[in-house]
Amino acid sequence: MKLVFATQNQNKVNELKCLMPEQIELKSLKEINCNEDIPETAPDLKGNALQKAKYVNQKYKVSCFADDTGLEIEALNNEPGVFSARYAGPNKSSNDNMNLVLQKLSNSTNRKARFKTVISLIIKDKTYFFEGICKGKITTKKSGTDGFGYDPIFIPEGFDKTFAEMSMEEKNKISHRGKAVKQLIDFLKVNFTE
Ligand code: IMP
Repeated sequence: MKLVFATQNQNKVNELKCLMPEQIELKSLKEINCNEDIPETAPDLKGNALQKAKYVNQKYKVSCFADDTGLEIEALNNEPGVFSARYAGPNKSSNDNMNLVLQKLSNSTNRKARFKTVISLIIKDKTYFFEGICKGKITTKKSGTDGFGYDPIFIPEGFDKTFAEMSMEEKNKISHRGKAVKQLIDFLKVNFTE
């Protein structure tokens, strides 16, 4: 069966293509000729993931899933959360977002944070959710050059290096997205591979 990943990020699609069971043909938005920006205006991660999956499901009449991720920092009342991509403002970079976090936490000894990914799947007209959490802490300065987003300032629990100092393989094994994706794939294998 055909399943669309409702994201414009081709790297995410490629990463998942090799993990999918062979009965499931994973398609990107580009591959179904969807090139528009899909709205993400819900107040939380679950709402955004559902909004994106619903949009593609209803407009293109396909089974699909979408993800949304946020960084939740305890001392900042779980900010930036759903605003992670645009924390420092609409046209700001990841570097600006990290600087803002470091500045806001400059007087804080509580550095606890977690990444959360929610996946919303709409398949055969039913909706399912999967969640992955990675607990950790925010550093006092940036470290490492791999990865993206807030990776240089996030150290996952049980490690003494940031996500940006890990290989993609090492990060995927313990990351929020890695965990949510594993649940999605296990679910698809059990229910949709006959
Ligand atoms: P998205 O929902 O995957 O697009 O993620 C929203 C924002 O959260 C991104 O623009 C990044 O700033 C941040 N983010 C998501 N996943 C990660 C990650 O694995 N590491 C660091 N930052 C991330």
